[in-house]
Amino acid sequence: MHDRELNEECAVAGAFNIPNASKSVYFSLFALQHRGQEAAGISSSDGKKMHTIKDRGLVTSVFDDQKLATLKGHMAVGHTRYSTAGDDSILDAQPVYARYDLGEMAIVHNGNLTNAQSIRDKLISKGAIFQTFMDTENMIHLIAKSDEDKILDRIIDAVKKIEGAYSMIVQSRSKMFAMRDPHGFRPLSLAKLGEGYVVASETCAFDLIGATYIRDVKPGELLIFEKGQEPISMQIQEPTPKHCIFEYVYFARPDSDVYEQNVYSLRKKMGEILAKESPVEADMIIPVPDGGVPAAIGYAQASGIPFEMAIMRNHYVGRTFIEPTQEIRDLKVKMKLSPIRKMIEGKRVVIIDDSIVRGTTSKKIVRMLKDAGAKEVHFRVSSPPTTDPCFYGVDTPNKEKLIASHMTNQEICDYIEADSVAYLSKEGLFESVSNEDDSYCTACFTGEYLV
Ligand code: SF4
Repeated sequence: MHDRELNEECAVAGAFNIPNASKSVYFSLFALQHRGQEAAGISSSDGKKMHTIKDRGLVTSVFDDQKLATLKGHMAVGHTRYSTAGDDSILDAQPVYARYDLGEMAIVHNGNLTNAQSIRDKLISKGAIFQTFMDTENMIHLIAKSDEDKILDRIIDAVKKIEGAYSMIVQSRSKMFAMRDPHGFRPLSLAKLGEGYVVASETCAFDLIGATYIRDVKPGELLIFEKGQEPISMQIQEPTPKHCIFEYVYFARPDSDVYEQNVYSLRKKMGEILAKESPVEADMIIPVPDGGVPAAIGYAQASGIPFEMAIMRNHYVGRTFIEPTQEIRDLKVKMKLSPIRKMIEGKRVVIIDDSIVRGTTSKKIVRMLKDAGAKEVHFRVSSPPTTDPCFYGVDTPNKEKLIASHMTNQEICDYIEADSVAYLSKEGLFESVSNEDDSYCTACFTGEYLV
């Protein structure tokens, strides 16, 4: 699924008690760019004043040395955003910043609040005015309007009113607070850097800036960062872990450890189990780059069939706004993926991808391989059929657009014109990720929503 048919809605990062904290956050966001490419922002604090820059675009285009120099201070929070069509206004970029009776605050949020509308309606009926469509703005209002005197108590008060998925960092002028919803839907990890601390959506951010991973922020936990102190942990809500299993399948970077397990190793294992569950006689295993690579290596090693990078990916394709004409209708896929005809011609190939969403891209890939002379094309998917949309921070198409919600495997096979199609079973996925304690959200494979 190389063209990101499912999109993680954001990444968050925070740095505390670190000289030029905005630089550490900038590089963290750079490492987390895969989680959102539409907008990026950083708010820093020098203890007296906050400084915020946010804009549409990639992290490297929003910031340069000059801009980072204006983001002064020993603490900073940052965000990269993916936005759905129609709400890509700069107002919807984060951090969400506000002045209120206790001073200033900036919030970054990865996830989706499931009771956002009812909270917003209540706040509006009491006279609140909203500037954006973001559920994160609710949090600003809840903190600002709380009757408590201290920011910590106000945050706790606000957190008890929100439901759904949130890995969130709140920055005041002198403190930082990191928290995760009681289910821990989205990841959030803690690391040490020099005398200070870094919090980020994935550990690949720590590797880039040389921070040492300490542990994950626990579901339902609030971490408080104050100058001159170790982070203070408060378990403010009863933990009932339901980590997003799709982080392992698709979203997270393979070099990250998510929920304390390495993503690459798990993806490889998914491929190994898929090979055992759905073997096929073939001449080569080909991944859909880049997402299908670890699972394809696992499939190849378990089956003994050679692994070949027989589809090349062009890494320099951004967005194209030029719609291909009817005659060159497969151009969009061809601009990104190109098969090596001399390797494929006359061969029985197994193509491995991490998921099938709408089926349209998979169909084009099968046609591309057949046009390149493949004798047989067997499609193998290293996750179970995606049948239901996500309400916890991932942008998925409506249920009716998810091909597996209304077609059997055979119908999907006929639609994408492959010689066979097989998915990893749910049991196979659970075995890959050691789901012994039932601690994962699997709603997009099962339709069983927790919240
Ligand atoms: Fe992740 Fe799917 Fe659950 Fe959404 S519904 S949190 S994508 S497992």
